[in-house]
Amino acid sequence: MPEKRRLQVYNTLTHQKENFIPLLESEQAEFVGMYSCGPTVYRSPTIGNYRAFFTADLIRNVLKYICGYPVKAVMNLTDVGHLTDDGDHGEDKLEKGAKREGISAREVAKKYEEEFFNGLEKMHIERFDVMPKATDHIQQQIEMIQALEEKGYTYTIPNDGIYMDSSKVREYGKLMGPNYKKRIENLNAGERVEMGGKKNATDFALWKFSPTQEKRQMERDSPRGIGFPGWHIECSAMSSEYLGKRFDLHHGGADHITVHHPNEIAQSESAFGYDEKHPRVNYRVHNQFLQVDGGKMGKSLGNAYTLEDLEAKGYSPLDLRYFYFMAQYANFQNFTRDALDQAKSTRKNLQKKIEKAVKELSLDPNSFSLPTTLQDLIKELPTQETTILAIDEALKDDFNTPKLIALLPTLVNSPTIEQLKVVLWLDQYILKIWLFEDNTPSSSEISEIPAEIMDLANQRATAKAEKNYTLADELRNQIQEKGYDIKDIPGGFEIKKV
Ligand code: AMP
Ligand code: ZN
Repeated sequence: MPEKRRLQVYNTLTHQKENFIPLLESEQAEFVGMYSCGPTVYRSPTIGNYRAFFTADLIRNVLKYICGYPVKAVMNLTDVGHLTDDGDHGEDKLEKGAKREGISAREVAKKYEEEFFNGLEKMHIERFDVMPKATDHIQQQIEMIQALEEKGYTYTIPNDGIYMDSSKVREYGKLMGPNYKKRIENLNAGERVEMGGKKNATDFALWKFSPTQEKRQMERDSPRGIGFPGWHIECSAMSSEYLGKRFDLHHGGADHITVHHPNEIAQSESAFGYDEKHPRVNYRVHNQFLQVDGGKMGKSLGNAYTLEDLEAKGYSPLDLRYFYFMAQYANFQNFTRDALDQAKSTRKNLQKKIEKAVKELSLDPNSFSLPTTLQDLIKELPTQETTILAIDEALKDDFNTPKLIALLPTLVNSPTIEQLKVVLWLDQYILKIWLFEDNTPSSSEISEIPAEIMDLANQRATAKAEKNYTLADELRNQIQEKGYDIKDIPGGFEIKKV
């Protein structure tokens, strides 16, 4: 029996691909702990954000189902403290959302939390084991700030906040790369940085005081004054609350490499202590950004697409899920309508081939009993089934999904029963693009539906997402009166002429 292949992960901390050796192999840990920086719930998540959520899902699934580890995965929801400006100025994003929508900050958080959870379901992203909210963990954040104060890492700027003195932090900014010291020096020497009362450009707020003449919607009392926590402290406080002072893997988008994560590391390692052999987190993993039409995605550019935008154009969220598999998480990925069309038609072709094979072999895929891990599936299959080893190799090669999906054509062209079993397993635990049931309408079916009916159907989907069921029923009646039937299916709806 060959030795089990190890998972390899690109570690931003060491700037290289490394063997993943979890704490449970060397210490008393009971699980592989992973933390992922989740959404700020002040607006609809974009397809850029979903790339980050998809990556967290992929990492968790590989650790759990490919490597067979017991995993505890945490993804936070930021509902206070994330300011519009990374330099600790500007407005709280939740309060900005409240002004925009004419509702309270709390209502904004509730609305977009629901939308986020709905989106996860549509994208077949299983909920993470713990999904804590910053506002439910203010006390833990206050305690951590107090610990940092006691250790002498902080200073106060009157009428502004409590700040972390980054010059006192050993190796502050090490995540930024081998020349991080030079980068920090340059930042501190820069003239363009608005310092306020900060001692160093890289210092950051742990607690912001509420302005005396103004009541902030999200403010809380603390021993040091009314206000709200800085954004970074929530991730230190909640990750240690659920995963302990040391854990295995921390994930987030690449934008966090320069500010949020260096600050999170500075707070945690200063509060809990660490040494070179025992960093607080061994593997720091970052997904690179999704771009649109070769450039940045932005609300002002009109290309910050949401899942609903794509659904309205006739795509299933699972087409987008397949699209994400087409690039490796650590590389930029370019979103274009052509690329999404390609994802959609590839998925459809795979479904058709599987449907044909299932018929030819007179199989009932529902009757297959599948083990949970790939290792157990390997034990059940004949030794000549080598694609399964290639799947293991692709995913353990730093979650190389393009390599993985390149294996699919071989697996679905005139497959054996064993090969179909492998595809079914893969679809159940990793791909989750529902290759064995084709519920999504084809583009020709969509184009037969008049624009007026599609418009009513999309309005109904929005009404349902907003839980306005009376309006949703009314819209269904209007669709029926015009001679069409609408049915809800996983990931969207199906319309037929009656
Ligand atoms: P936010 O809601 O802005 O706090 O972001 C949630 C997650 O999405 C974070 O991990 C970000 O780093 C990530 N993210 C934001 N924009 C993109 C993008 N265009 N591509 C990939 N990840 C992104
Ligand atoms: Zn975070």
